[in-house]
Amino acid sequence: MSVQALQCKECGQTYPLDARYVCEQCFGPLEVAYDHSGLDPESTRRRIQAGPQSIWRYSDFLPFESRPEPGLPVGLTPLQPAPRLAERLGLGEVWIKNDTANPTHSFKDRVVAVALAKAQELGYRVVACASTGNLAGAVAAHAAAAGLESFVFIPSDLEEQKVLATGVYGANLIAVRGTYDDVNRLCTELSAERDWAFVNVNVRPYYAEGSKTLGFEIAEQLGFELPDRVVAPIASGSLFTKIARGFEEWLEVGLVEGTLPAFNGAQAAGCSPVAKAYEAGDDFCRPVKPRTIAKSLAIGNPADGPYALDLARRSGGSVESVTDAEIRSGIRLLAETTGIFTETAGGVTTAVLRKLAEEGVIGSGERVVAVITGDGLKTLDAVRDTFTVHEIDPTAASFEESAAEQAVGAL
Ligand SMILES: *Cc1c(COP(=O)(O)O)cnc(C)c1O
Ligand SMILES: [Zn+2]
Repeated sequence: MSVQALQCKECGQTYPLDARYVCEQCFGPLEVAYDHSGLDPESTRRRIQAGPQSIWRYSDFLPFESRPEPGLPVGLTPLQPAPRLAERLGLGEVWIKNDTANPTHSFKDRVVAVALAKAQELGYRVVACASTGNLAGAVAAHAAAAGLESFVFIPSDLEEQKVLATGVYGANLIAVRGTYDDVNRLCTELSAERDWAFVNVNVRPYYAEGSKTLGFEIAEQLGFELPDRVVAPIASGSLFTKIARGFEEWLEVGLVEGTLPAFNGAQAAGCSPVAKAYEAGDDFCRPVKPRTIAKSLAIGNPADGPYALDLARRSGGSVESVTDAEIRSGIRLLAETTGIFTETAGGVTTAVLRKLAEEGVIGSGERVVAVITGDGLKTLDAVRDTFTVHEIDPTAASFEESAAEQAVGAL
């Protein structure tokens, strides 16, 4: 196994693989370090292809000495070609990585599966999180499956669908009167006092590794090739940067060839600290107070903001923002052209894809992957009143009258 240590992203200091997330020397964030020099591409690829139908087929690149007992099956979500979306946008080749097809209907199942496996290995009996919505449901469900107790902290104004889809698993659900950034601060404080595994605080370095599996799957599903461009949403910036890290690890091992794709980050205009910094040419983010319907992306002080900026710049990508109206129409555009109903975060991603297409940024020969991270059933209000329901009496005459009004008689 190639996992080595925890390592500071800023000064390089290494630490043992336990529950810690900040460097004692420089207060920089820690991440998992590997030595992949023992992996040869042919046998690694065979091991992946013979592995389980889940993220655990990528165990060589995950932070465990031996493959953990799998819980809820996570990953291997469809990579679906989207020819009608491509045509509508005047693009050559567009694929949708449909991560709504996970057990709790968002990409957060990936990060939680890895964080909980590590928490169990380290002996924790209680898991917890600070959530913008989807993490809540994922932690609650995976804890239920594993027989762990869970404490889930959410902002009190969270969408009702997400609250209901969390409480059902029997989690201790705590609604905090404040923004996600307030919730996160509270959880950081609590994590210092309690012997709990907070998936996105004290075991965050392991949690973050789960997002690499999105990159691995995209490459494997393209026949061990990289796309030319990835459009993905940014909240803390972890998902965005770790998809790229997944590609980089496979380039290093020789499982794929070529260069890193261009990475375009997607944010809601009402919470766009990374897009603003990108536009200003800054390499750090100024915290903002979120005001957007894309609540799952509403992090005003993104932990991985500087790394997301760096990735966008060095890969030849960008970080863009779109308005709430553009988010709603992005949801409709994706649904009408692919049959995939996404939550507001996917509306952000689709709207940014559209914006890049309209600005002529995307070449006609490019293979583009848009990462759709959550299910539309989680944010139903976002599509309310975006279409009409035609109510009629139960008679053919009434239907024909309504059809005539709608001028669909020809059908
Ligand atoms: C959490 C989340 C993201 C992005 O999260 P990061 O903090 O940037 O890793 C994207 N989409 C959805 C639906 C999410 O729940
Ligand atoms: Zn350090």
